[in-house]
Amino acid sequence: MAYIEPAPIKDKENPLESMMERFHIAAEKLGLSEEIYNVLKNPAKQVIVSLPITMDNGKIKVFEGIRVIHSNILGPAKGGIRFAPDVHLDEVRALAAWMTWKCAVVDIPYGGGKGGVRCNPREMSAGEIERLVRAYTLAMIDVFGPDKDIPAPDMGTGPREMAWLMDEYSKAHGMTVNAVVTGKPLVLGGSLGRTEATGRGVMVTALAAMQKLKINPFQATCAVQGFGNVGSWASLLLEERGLKIVAISDISGAYYNADGINIQEAIAYRDSNKGTLENFKGAEKLADAMDLLELEVDVLVPAAVEDVITIANADRIKAKLIVEGANGPTSAKADAILNDKGIMAVPDILANAGGVTVSYFEWVQNRLGYKWTAERVNRRSDRIMKDAFDHVYEASIKYQVPLRIAAYIVAIDKVAKTYTYRGGF
Ligand code: NAD
Repeated sequence: MAYIEPAPIKDKENPLESMMERFHIAAEKLGLSEEIYNVLKNPAKQVIVSLPITMDNGKIKVFEGIRVIHSNILGPAKGGIRFAPDVHLDEVRALAAWMTWKCAVVDIPYGGGKGGVRCNPREMSAGEIERLVRAYTLAMIDVFGPDKDIPAPDMGTGPREMAWLMDEYSKAHGMTVNAVVTGKPLVLGGSLGRTEATGRGVMVTALAAMQKLKINPFQATCAVQGFGNVGSWASLLLEERGLKIVAISDISGAYYNADGINIQEAIAYRDSNKGTLENFKGAEKLADAMDLLELEVDVLVPAAVEDVITIANADRIKAKLIVEGANGPTSAKADAILNDKGIMAVPDILANAGGVTVSYFEWVQNRLGYKWTAERVNRRSDRIMKDAFDHVYEASIKYQVPLRIAAYIVAIDKVAKTYTYRGGF
């Protein structure tokens, strides 16, 4: 089969290129036709707008805003909005595709999208950011919509920005439309359980994988890289289920305690210490924070940044299981090394999809005009994550591929079949 090769991206270990490489491998395994391959490779819609904003000093500054809908085959596009100085169309396109696969793998009725505005929110006042969010929303008024494209927070944006987006969209439509965006503050229709959702999904998929590997959680050790939202919740919930968390880390360094770290204590310390673990006394600081990845543990959870398991260190990883809380922590080249070593990796598009799953629940609740309890949210998201894991595991057996390629196979197959039923022109 002669697919058109994925667009080259300069850096060979670039996580987005790695994602496209896996898409390519999975498409081949699946025997996807060249026509459908090209339909799924290219974004459905790309919108670039110019946003003139009056800054606090009275001068007008023009920002570039982007929204890419990679696919709306399964349903309305879903994906975050990134405010960062280096936002680029190529990156947004790849991130939008990533969302398509993530939503499809957990079987929620969404396509994939992503947005971005090239700006530095750290150097802007709240008023400037608010005007930028409102201008971006108005410029995208025909793109966004609860049945068309549903944004969410990403790097540089949070509940505050989503509240402004919802308000601007609602004003333009003369009514409150809270289902147009997720990740809102609770009072505006945000969902209970969203904060812990991604870490919770990491826990559910980790336990499901441990069952397959016959690792007893009560005798298992675990190291977690990153102690922000995903890493700290994953640590806490895994500890609650019996695992001994022997190492955690954040930007200040990595901390190791062979007897297990008390995660509640670590969270309380971080929260009282400007958000970092610096000088945490419940564990010893490792000389090199990257050594956390190479510890002799049963489970390793990278939950910080992309591209940390690469050809530079993959052969020294000793964990039996890797569960990817972060997006893109393992490069495509490292995959082969991990496979040769017999290490199972639950891939990002599956392991961290608990977040988008509860975002979907937020949208469902908004449309119902009803609020679910945290217990209901957790029960339903746990079931979705466990079903998705089982599905991917079955595909890995059927196609004789690692879980990562299996996850892409499940996702691509679902989108391709739906496209075929719906038909093109
Ligand atoms: P966060 O900002 O809350 O936390 C990030 C943590 O990583 C912080 O503790 C930070 O100090 C630490 N960190 C940064 N660089 C590090 C390094 N080089 N080594 C060790 N630690 C480092 O972010 P988050 O929301 O927890 O997201 C973490 C990852 O999970 C990202 O890749 C993100 O894209 C992904 N993710 C998050 C969600 C979500 O719902 N929050 C959903 C899906 C995927």
